[in-house]
Amino acid sequence: MLVTRLAPSPTGALHLGNARTFLINWLLARQNGWRIILRIEDIDSPRIKRGADQQAIEDLRWLGIDSDEGPIYQTSRAAAYRDSIEHLLKIGVAYPCVRSRREVELAASAPHAEDGATVYPGTCRGLFGSVDEARKSSGREPAIRYAVPQGENGVVAFIDEFAGPQRFDVARELGDFVIAKSDGTAAYQLAVVVDDAAMRVTHVVRGDDLLDSTPRQILLYRALGLADRIPKYTHLPLVVGTDGRRLAKRHGDTRLRHYREQGVTAGRVLSLLARWCGITLPTNDGPTANNFLASFKLDAVPRSRIIFTAADDAFLRGE
Ligand code: GLU
Repeated sequence: MLVTRLAPSPTGALHLGNARTFLINWLLARQNGWRIILRIEDIDSPRIKRGADQQAIEDLRWLGIDSDEGPIYQTSRAAAYRDSIEHLLKIGVAYPCVRSRREVELAASAPHAEDGATVYPGTCRGLFGSVDEARKSSGREPAIRYAVPQGENGVVAFIDEFAGPQRFDVARELGDFVIAKSDGTAAYQLAVVVDDAAMRVTHVVRGDDLLDSTPRQILLYRALGLADRIPKYTHLPLVVGTDGRRLAKRHGDTRLRHYREQGVTAGRVLSLLARWCGITLPTNDGPTANNFLASFKLDAVPRSRIIFTAADDAFLRGE
């Protein structure tokens, strides 16, 4: 069976950019007979907003994007994450780290990734015999990092269904990454792999801001002995504002909910999203997500980032 997931993070309401990614994910699933699991990624606790899960579910429904299973909340999966983290510690491919993010950033020796993010220089690797020892000797609650294999074993190549062939030297470009935070909760990279593997997800469709998460996730599949479950990946260009930055509050209120409150119909939003998905509509009037099933083609999706302009906003408002 082929399976995908819609995985909103309830850190805020869905905006036009997220909606487009979810729409493409849904269209691919419905065209190809993939089962759709709705998974709420609610483990990033400080950023989670109350009620944003229900809002996301409603927003998706409003657009006609349905699922076959779920919602499954990541906060209900803590035991599975803990088991995997324990396992990785036990087999010696993960280690406790007592450096705060700020300290890592300040370390003069830390190299920088292409996007300016700091590559963790491995300061705590091999420093402590156990998590307990790290805790006692530092007086801090440690995070847990995955020890990226050095050399060829840390090089990950894969073919993205949209972005094409990819190759990352994870040790050099990204470094040892956090799999459990110091508060004991699982970090994104680990949780996604444990869930996708357990839910037998075969197809991951998401924004290309997560393209460099993929090699880290592939390394975790391998480390967990789950290499046979590595899914196929489709990373889509994000929607940005006219300043080239990813769609956010600074570009005005582009939340679906906002437009909906202004009386904008789902059909109108879908007309805009259709254009952003390279779909040619027979008519601009009141399409439903189902109407796109006949004409959507991944190949026709624009290759470059979509720019949200004032004209798009005016179109939605019917001005
Ligand atoms: N929850 C993530 C997001 O909303 C998606 C994670 C994923 O697709 O792997 O950006």
